[in-house]
Amino acid sequence: MIYDLIVIGGGAAGLVVGNLAKTKGFKFLILEMNKAARKIRVTGNGKCNLTNLDMRPEYYNDDFVKDVIYSYPPQKVISFFERMGVKTKTVENRVYPYNESALTVASFLIKGVQENLIEGYKVESIKKLEDIFVINDEYKAKNVFFATGTDATMGHDSVSLLKAFGHRLVPFKPSLVWLKTEVGYIKGLNGIRAKAALSLFDKDKKIAVERGEVLFKKEGVSGIAAFMLSAYVARKDGDYSLSIDFAEDMTATLLSKYPLEGVVKKEISHNIFKQARDRKISPEQAVKDFRLKIIGLGERKFAQVLSGGIDLGDMDPKTMCSKLVKGLYILGECMNIDGQCGGYNLHWAFASAMAAMESISK
Ligand SMILES: Cc1cc2nc3c(=O)[nH]c(=O)nc-3n(C[C@H](O)[C@H](O)[C@H](O)COP(=O)(O)OP(=O)(O)OC[C@H]3O[C@@H](n4cnc5c(N)ncnc54)[C@H](O)[C@@H]3O)c2cc1C
Repeated sequence: MIYDLIVIGGGAAGLVVGNLAKTKGFKFLILEMNKAARKIRVTGNGKCNLTNLDMRPEYYNDDFVKDVIYSYPPQKVISFFERMGVKTKTVENRVYPYNESALTVASFLIKGVQENLIEGYKVESIKKLEDIFVINDEYKAKNVFFATGTDATMGHDSVSLLKAFGHRLVPFKPSLVWLKTEVGYIKGLNGIRAKAALSLFDKDKKIAVERGEVLFKKEGVSGIAAFMLSAYVARKDGDYSLSIDFAEDMTATLLSKYPLEGVVKKEISHNIFKQARDRKISPEQAVKDFRLKIIGLGERKFAQVLSGGIDLGDMDPKTMCSKLVKGLYILGECMNIDGQCGGYNLHWAFASAMAAMESISK
């Protein structure tokens, strides 16, 4: 049998393709090496942040996303899930399933394609013989939808399968992950949390500011703000450092009216005094500009996404079709697109799947 389309990867993008293929009456198959929707189940701390109403190209690494996110905005993703029966809700622009259960999203996505899904099946080769794709010398299809994600937390990297077709790859780096810093000024802080504003500098140039909880680790800094800043570090090599402001709403003059331990946690105050001495600045200045040199990114097994992937130059930004191989569509995180925290990565997986399906339906 020759399928209309075979989807490689039963994750966020692949399952959306499958559900749309079913409604359109295509003959299709989804091949998944693990359990389908494995990663979706752990998204958003188990709540699954599906998309974000504040959707703009600048929240991604490249404006390649422009056509797709304007044609498939958050409302289309919400309608897709609501049509399937998953009620959604919005909290500060972030869209979640109403019951805050990623398992609900996973099970509804799988339910619609159960008969067309083969789990525990790893794709090891893709060939094209005349107009037909042959997968693992076993399955044949007119079109292939490549949606294999990356090896960030629980995933698997399969992009080398497309090298044989001439697709170029941008090396992967962990993103939305903790930042490794020099340890001299964070000694004794492992496990300590504080609310702060974090500024990322490349040499003397301020790149971005993020606010939120900082969680110190033995070898660096974690927490939502550090996660957000890691995206910049992953995307471009630089000479990066962090400036942490532990009291953004206070001036150094106001700070000087209080003992340091009355404003910041005692453990942190030790390190602030040490840095102030070394840099020959006042402790108040060090509270507002506590510097840590960034020396790397946390491991892939802890990253929410990877930056890098299949080079965008070889792909059509409207249809997600390969420019090198007719009938080959590339979707989701395995291409060189990564978004900020807040629903942007799942949105890209869903929206790129919708764009590709629209194109093949025409
Ligand atoms: C802990 C965590 C929390 C996250 N939270 C959020 C969030 O709340 N909101 C958000 O927007 N994003 C979140 N993300 C990111 C988001 O989950 C991913 O960007 C998204 O799942 C990517 O979708 P995808 O379809 O491209 O890949 P995936 O969903 O990873 O699916 C790819 C599938 O392909 C399969 N596969 C790989 N190679 C092969 C092969 N050779 N043969 C067969 N199958 C193969 C894999 O097993 C996998 O199931 C989170 C990520 C993590 C790790």
